[in-house]
Amino acid sequence: MTATDEPSATAQEYLETIYNIAMEGDPVVGARLAEKFGVAPPTVTATLQRLARDGYLTLDRRRGAALTARGVAAAEATLRRHRLVERFLFELLHMDWIAAHEEAHALEHGLSPAIEAHLVAALGDPTTCPHGNPIPGSALAGRDYLRERGALRLADAPPGRPLRVLCLSEVVEDETALLRQAGAAGLRPGRAVRVDAHTAGGTAVAVGERTTTTTTLLAALATRVWVVADGAADSAHQASVGDSGPRSTGSGPTTRN
Ligand SMILES: [Zn+2]
Repeated sequence: MTATDEPSATAQEYLETIYNIAMEGDPVVGARLAEKFGVAPPTVTATLQRLARDGYLTLDRRRGAALTARGVAAAEATLRRHRLVERFLFELLHMDWIAAHEEAHALEHGLSPAIEAHLVAALGDPTTCPHGNPIPGSALAGRDYLRERGALRLADAPPGRPLRVLCLSEVVEDETALLRQAGAAGLRPGRAVRVDAHTAGGTAVAVGERTTTTTTLLAALATRVWVVADGAADSAHQASVGDSGPRSTGSGPTTRN
């Protein structure tokens, strides 16, 4: 791969976000991207057209944008570096999960393949970032990660069942604000949580193993926290820990839907 093949920083951010929206099972429409990046819809359209011209995605008026195999590979390479760097900042440099997220952007672009390999070894080949999102190439699945685990948004989860937090969405305008709210509510990957009720005011939850206290989460937070049935997160973790290497096909899913 020559230097000119490397997508620009803006292109990388778009590809990452499109990949994440697809992982969450939503159609990739311009409005979501305009909201995420805080830009006007014509700017999004122009960027998407450039990405389509460069072979990273296809555009469909009704179904929105879909990454090509080339787009998936570029998105996964960027997400892998970003999430590995987050892990490094969080685990080895002991930064909190907000600072790790914010500082990762500065470091990820300078990560050479040699440094990446050493990071993977130093961190023990982690499968997720500190926010629970899968590290492509190390996690068992890429865009199917949420589907394969039967993950639900906390806002859609059935009341009364024991659940665990799987991950926090990256498809938000302000990830720092989301992480702050989630942290304040005690919602971290692996944490036990139970929905008490869905009301007009939000989702009432009890966070923690034996909690009886109920907190009401606004929809903006409850829709961005992904949960799994209690036990599913552990078995997924054990499966990845017990693996001698990545079980995925390496380059990740290449389906175009
Ligand atoms: Zn993360």
